[in-house]
Amino acid sequence: MESLQEFHYNSIYELADLIDSSVKAEVDFWGHNEEYFIEISSKFSKDTLLHLYIVITATNFYRRDFKKNPELYEEEEDLEKWYILFDTYSIEFKRLNLKQIQSSSEWFETNTEAFFALFEKMAEEVFYILFANRDFLLRFNSIAAKTIKETRFPINLVTKKGTIRRVTIPQWVKKAVYHREKGRCVFCNADLTGLINIFNTSNYDHIVPLDLFGANDPCNIQLSCEKCNKSKKNKVGATSNFYTPWWKNK
Ligand SMILES: [Zn+2]
Repeated sequence: MESLQEFHYNSIYELADLIDSSVKAEVDFWGHNEEYFIEISSKFSKDTLLHLYIVITATNFYRRDFKKNPELYEEEEDLEKWYILFDTYSIEFKRLNLKQIQSSSEWFETNTEAFFALFEKMAEEVFYILFANRDFLLRFNSIAAKTIKETRFPINLVTKKGTIRRVTIPQWVKKAVYHREKGRCVFCNADLTGLINIFNTSNYDHIVPLDLFGANDPCNIQLSCEKCNKSKKNKVGATSNFYTPWWKNK
């Protein structure tokens, strides 16, 4: 059990949908901690850019929602969904007490830390779903690239052009990506299982190239054969949305 993690899948698809819509609407890393963004986008971090994006997007969205739509949270029972979520993830929070707290928006602000902790937990599960969707990852990495372009990095981390320097892709990233693609090139579906060593660096490719301000982030890596990798290199951000089905229908 040591390597297994318990997932609750409680309201996870709702949050995944919010993140997908935000990426489609090109909502950027609004209000992020720049120093932390620089740290995790320049070297592969297990707490990825997508984890960060999920937490800040959820916090920004619900803060605004509590403020703008007070009628949605007028009674204590309207908050039941949140109470259940806090309990599911064993997060301590303060219940709404209408005698002390005037509005649900105020309740959100008094529970900021609890919400942050909740979104961090939920981010793990949302990540599990979205990491499998390369089409989403391409759109997400394009937003990350835009933020990278606008951010001033320490000079030791970037090239003259301002793009992030290449670093070695860690083995834990290669292993995850290899299994996500089931050992096949994402472009031509070539079966690479018998041909490559799982850790062969030349088969791992940045979805949005570093040269186009892509990040050194686990979500920005995919598996491709050398031919497809070479023909794509540094030209455009590209992936495919072809997947091996669990079984064939016909
Ligand atoms: Zn290929």
